[in-house]
Amino acid sequence: MSRQHVLRIENLHASVGHKEILRGIDLQLKSGEVHAVMGPNGSGKSTLSHVLMGKPGYEVTRGSIFLDDTDLLALPVWERAQAGLFLVSQYPIEVPGVSLEEALRAAFDTTGLDASELHQRILAESDGIRFPLALLGRSLNVDFSGGEKKRNEMVQLAVLKPKFAVLDEIDSGLDIDALRDVSKRVEVATNNDRLGVLAITHYSRLLKELRPDRVHVLVRGEIAASGGPDLAEQLEKTGYAEYGVVEDPGKAVPSGILGLH
Ligand code: ADP
Ligand code: MG
Repeated sequence: MSRQHVLRIENLHASVGHKEILRGIDLQLKSGEVHAVMGPNGSGKSTLSHVLMGKPGYEVTRGSIFLDDTDLLALPVWERAQAGLFLVSQYPIEVPGVSLEEALRAAFDTTGLDASELHQRILAESDGIRFPLALLGRSLNVDFSGGEKKRNEMVQLAVLKPKFAVLDEIDSGLDIDALRDVSKRVEVATNNDRLGVLAITHYSRLLKELRPDRVHVLVRGEIAASGGPDLAEQLEKTGYAEYGVVEDPGKAVPSGILGLH
């Protein structure tokens, strides 16, 4: 069995421009665990994912992020990936001119991993997650549908086998079949590869598929509450009102219902 790892976020403060968005986040995630971070629009969920991954434009003003003994804040994006962190972005970037296999081969080469069976593994994982094999030769994410993008991210996750994955609103723009496939693949990784997951979501429907061990409620850049899976169920009933959040009703309706993707 693989080693136990820990992702430790302590007193994390981060700003965009001069506006403080994250105001003291403490979170500890271990191998094999699924933690959900739920929160209303604008509470800082995507900011947290970007700060974890090291996206430029976000300034960490206090606190720390460690993966085991590695100080992630001291590393550029690609070295954080090398250390074992993987982000499934809310809006996966399009990479014109680079196929999935080329991107993964580059990742394997920089890490010094054996890429000899890469092609077979990509085929097997694509098949498993129902990612159309015909798209494998195309530029990464270019003209992929929402579902294809997320299935494609699962192929990357399955092949790269990171220690921790941050899933930012992986449920947005997914129909229920795609959501189920993606959630199942993540769950298999938590069991077989001991992947630790930070699942960021506005809605509890993801958490019906991907059962969290812990649920954290992010409000105005702070963790307002933490609990077990029942906390997600409670949020589904009450929304974020008890945390003093009045949501724009236009935004509170899942985009899937309106067909807005
Ligand atoms: P969530 O993902 O929870 O909806 P975000 O992390 O995207 O929230 O945004 C949190 C707050 O930070 C919002 O008020 C948003 O307007 C602001 N923000 C995020 N990114 C930027 C940016 N690049 N420039 C300016 N403001 C930003
Ligand atoms: Mg977001």
